[in-house]
Amino acid sequence: MKKRVKIGPHVYTVHIADLGALSDNYGTTIESQLQINVDVNMKKSKQDSVLAHEILHALIVEGGARELVKDNEELLVSILENTFYQFLNENTDFYAK
Ligand SMILES: [Zn+2]
Repeated sequence: MKKRVKIGPHVYTVHIADLGALSDNYGTTIESQLQINVDVNMKKSKQDSVLAHEILHALIVEGGARELVKDNEELLVSILENTFYQFLNENTDFYAK
């Protein structure tokens, strides 16, 4: 399945697919290709939290914060993953226009 999401000035393509042969990770973000990959071999809520995790990586990059977080990026994103996903999931109408 493919989705698109705008992050900063760019539209990322999200692929929900079998990543088994491509990666040891549940998800990956390839900034140069504006591509997020999420492994389909998980329950839907886990796919969604992994997608939130990858979106946080893209937000850091597109927001110009990679240099700021440096070696702590994975730790920071992992800490925020579940709370960011839960916030998005439970406040879907909050910013709706
Ligand atoms: Zn990560």
